[in-house]
Amino acid sequence: MPELPEVETTRKGLEPFILSSKVKTVNIHFKTLRWPIPKEITSIEGLKSIGIERRAKYLLWHFKHGTVVMHLGMSGAMRIVSSKEPLQKHDHFEVIFTSGKALRFNDPRRFGAVLWQAKEETLDILQSLGPEPLTNDFNTNYLQQALSKRKGAIKNAIMTNQVVVGVGNIYASEALFLSGIKPTAIANKVSKARLVKLVDAIKQVLAKAIAEGGTTLKDFTQTDGNPGYFAQQLNVYGREGEDCFNCNAIIKRKVIGQRASYYCGNCQR
Ligand SMILES: [Zn+2]
Repeated sequence: MPELPEVETTRKGLEPFILSSKVKTVNIHFKTLRWPIPKEITSIEGLKSIGIERRAKYLLWHFKHGTVVMHLGMSGAMRIVSSKEPLQKHDHFEVIFTSGKALRFNDPRRFGAVLWQAKEETLDILQSLGPEPLTNDFNTNYLQQALSKRKGAIKNAIMTNQVVVGVGNIYASEALFLSGIKPTAIANKVSKARLVKLVDAIKQVLAKAIAEGGTTLKDFTQTDGNPGYFAQQLNVYGREGEDCFNCNAIIKRKVIGQRASYYCGNCQR
């Protein structure tokens, strides 16, 4: 599943194309992804974008009168290709630019989304989101407050969008390892000193993944069409039964909140 670093990589890849050329035509090849693609999307025809941002795992593609909101879902990927190139299977949404390039959204499982948000409007899905992990709004004082009433596992808490956005399963596992916190630790019982380390670790793993262009996803494709498979060194994720790089104990796997979690029982308490 594309996580925050893949979405940020996609944003960076799209930016030069969408800022340098006007939209010529919008083609909806498949009407309903996770939700129907609204017809208002075609109102961007003939216009030039004023910028593209990322909020959580949403891409916000801004025009003067509104925003195209896109989500990659479970299996979505964006590509920039020549508009003359034949469509591929599962290319459900396409924007052709006056430059002759085309942005294509490919999504075999169709859990992704392409939505329209009019100016002055905020879609429900963009409301009640927690802070961005890489901003100063996500800090130890904030996290301590946000966890104060959460009695579940710390791993589930940091994967909750209202607490902090964009910390997916891989990054949650890795950040907990780096901060020495067991994934099943009770969220509101983790000491402030340990939350300092956790905040730092979350920022570190995400920043590193963004710098490397994404994570170890087989089906993620970068906007230039190259496969986004990066052999980022993971300390615990996917390493059940292997030796901990830190202490040589065996990495364990446990299902927490229906997600596979990996940890070192010796390094993480
Ligand atoms: Zn260890």
